[in-house]
Amino acid sequence: MTARIIDGNALSARVRGEIAERATALTARGVQPCLAVILVGENPASAVYVRNKVSACEKAGIRSLRLDYPADVSPEVVMARLAELNADPSVHGILVQLPLPKQFDEAAVLEAISVTKDVDGFHAENVGRLSQNQEAFLPCTPHGVMKMFEAEGVDLAGVEAVVIGRSNIVGKPMAMLLTNAGATVTVCHSKTRDLNFHTRRADILVAAIGKPRFVTGDMVKPGATVIDVGINRLPDGKLCGDVDFESAKTVAGLITPVPGGVGPMTITMLLENTVISADRAARAAGK
Ligand code: NAP
Repeated sequence: MTARIIDGNALSARVRGEIAERATALTARGVQPCLAVILVGENPASAVYVRNKVSACEKAGIRSLRLDYPADVSPEVVMARLAELNADPSVHGILVQLPLPKQFDEAAVLEAISVTKDVDGFHAENVGRLSQNQEAFLPCTPHGVMKMFEAEGVDLAGVEAVVIGRSNIVGKPMAMLLTNAGATVTVCHSKTRDLNFHTRRADILVAAIGKPRFVTGDMVKPGATVIDVGINRLPDGKLCGDVDFESAKTVAGLITPVPGGVGPMTITMLLENTVISADRAARAAGK
């Protein structure tokens, strides 16, 4: 068997087209969606992520406000700017690129972003709302994975889903979204005994580990849907996922590649959240 490949680039292009139309319509109503992006320090990976986010905004007709601070900036300066952005009605989404330098309390910074502008979905209130299956800004990476299931017609009700990874940005919210959608979910991590026992019975297997080609074909149930969230840089500079694509694709039914799978969907969902926030602001202002 050779798995069908889920094309994250194609899905992302389609969804971004729809987002651009919504942004144009909002701008015509006098509310151009605007995302503020804060970058502290010179972490090269973070700089690339921020550049990609700002450029995706421009292409979708979303205004971006990029705010760069030196690595030794005092947290008070950034907190004061966050308060201004929270109060600015022309700003609809605020994102602080993580990780932050060690003088920052990351949780406190995330809490300082207004819940209504928390387009990354990391604020504790949005996380709580997600866990209660209430409307919330959803974290972009797992939300992008859910969009992929929807686009591919993957039925989640009653399926066995296994998520490897329990981080706050991917693993845990992924497990909550799958639970809310009716899957029976197992979350595995570095302390899990007999990981293969769990992965081999998964109808849906999501890998969010951060270890290149960790999930091999012998760990996959025949016909399973395999979602590779991992982005790992190899010594030769190439990118690879947490799944050994070559062996897994001979067993799986559906699989995401790296690059070109989950990655492009993450930024797409950030744009969508920004447009949703701008739409709410426009309605609240009677526009
Ligand atoms: P993370 O915070 O480092 O979490 C990794 C998780 O994997 C942890 O829960 C860890 O378990 C678990 N793990 C590590 N070794 C394991 C093992 N041998 N067996 C089972 N579980 C193991 O990473 P993250 O932020 O969730 O990111 C995961 C990957 O996704 C990374 O490659 C990252 O670059 C990528 N990523 C991609 C996107 C995207 O847009 N596509 C977005 C975010 C992240 P413990 O909790 O026990 O330590």
